[in-house]
Amino acid sequence: MIGLPERAELDQLANPYAALAANAFASPAGDDSGLLARILSDPRMQHHAAGLLSCLQCGICTSGCPAARFGDFSPREISRRALLGDPTLLEDDSVWLCCYCYTCQSRCPRGNSVAVINQIIRGLQVESGYGLRHVALFTAWTEQFYATGLGGWPHQLLDAIADAWGDRWWNLVEHLDEMRDELGVGSLYPSERAMGELRAIMDETGCRERLQPAEA
Ligand code: SF4
Ligand code: SF4
Repeated sequence: MIGLPERAELDQLANPYAALAANAFASPAGDDSGLLARILSDPRMQHHAAGLLSCLQCGICTSGCPAARFGDFSPREISRRALLGDPTLLEDDSVWLCCYCYTCQSRCPRGNSVAVINQIIRGLQVESGYGLRHVALFTAWTEQFYATGLGGWPHQLLDAIADAWGDRWWNLVEHLDEMRDELGVGSLYPSERAMGELRAIMDETGCRERLQPAEA
């Protein structure tokens, strides 16, 4: 008489990649740099660690990645190198091309998230100082955010709009407050109370101080 399959066998049938997940790519023991362990232990990887360890190198992430379409960047490669604990990731500028659209995460058949891996690697690059120049722009935004509650005036950031719209754009900028009053949508800026809370959070977390080295 043929016996019922064991639970593990059923799991294997339901998920033919289970063996891969368990063995093929999991290489924490060979993680000489400690990078894989660092990535896997990050709280943001809580729901993606098993996915990283079982990455199939199928390339679905790369096929839908907008950054891969226009730059020398491959989420599949990032996943492979993260699995290997490849320390060159800590000095790889391509991770800054990721725009956090999360397409890779939503499409990955294993539940991996290269978006999150990129966040972790970027953080490590900033920590080491290597990636500071990539966050230099944000220091200016942070100071504006602290002062006004807005990260940046659109007309400062998007000169192309001003060029294209000409006087209409400057008219909008000049009369924005009146227009908002007329529309009844209130001020563009947060209230004084909200600003107080915002500044308290920024002071408490030291976010401005942490970004200061990037200004140099
Ligand atoms: S889609 Fe997922 S499993 Fe496939 S290569 Fe990308 S990270 Fe790996
Ligand atoms: S989150 Fe980043 S890596 Fe993922 S698809 Fe979007 S741009 Fe590509």
